[in-house]
Amino acid sequence: MRALSEPDFGDSRVFFPGDVSRWSPARLARLLTGRSIEPDISALLGALVGRPGECVIDFMMAAAGLGARDEGYDYHLLDGYWIVENRRVDAHTARLTRREPDFLITRIPHGGDRHELVVAVEVKGRGAVNYIRCPADIPEHRGYSNQLICYAASCWLADDAVGRDTLRYVWLGLRADMAPGVFPRRALTGDVRHDAIWALNDVDAIAGWCAQEASIPLWHLASLEDLAVELSAVDASVGAILLDWIERL
Ligand SMILES: [Zn+2]
Repeated sequence: MRALSEPDFGDSRVFFPGDVSRWSPARLARLLTGRSIEPDISALLGALVGRPGECVIDFMMAAAGLGARDEGYDYHLLDGYWIVENRRVDAHTARLTRREPDFLITRIPHGGDRHELVVAVEVKGRGAVNYIRCPADIPEHRGYSNQLICYAASCWLADDAVGRDTLRYVWLGLRADMAPGVFPRRALTGDVRHDAIWALNDVDAIAGWCAQEASIPLWHLASLEDLAVELSAVDASVGAILLDWIERL
């Protein structure tokens, strides 16, 4: 029986073993048999190393309007587990809320040892934007807040996180949902608290709506389909997992 820490996707060894060892047998089975669900895909993208990992990093940096990787740094993909549980980014980077984007791109200067935040990515297929209670307790977010609002405002990060001021946010969704005027309407589908905003006419609802409007320009939009094409070019097995999931959305 193959060890969970050593998945064999074709002949490529593309996952950081420490990440994969935390996956449940059910998750690994879904990924290997074309039954992936959104959290599986988020975990997969945040765990890639090697050429597929570099592919995701380059794709996200381009989506975020950043240039090529700086040769003076090593770049990394980190998933939410590492961000919060292992504090691999920095001992004080993330607030202990267990509310954070799906994965991060960080960089470490050669000879350095501190991860610097570069890009944070939220992956959404047909899943709803989740209501969250603002981790930073910002007054404007008290009435209503969600992933769109509190991630892009960096409420989930400690005030002294390295790179906090320059961190860019990418929303990775279906191409049709990322079109102007469609995002974030489609992205918000299913959030009952969002529906509550429309029903209420009080100070909290208005503040929440304004906070959301302010957050929208902070997101860089990227399509799952485009990423699947790029990934397939460097690793057909990994690309196929993503394509299969997209087709079933
Ligand atoms: Zn907030």
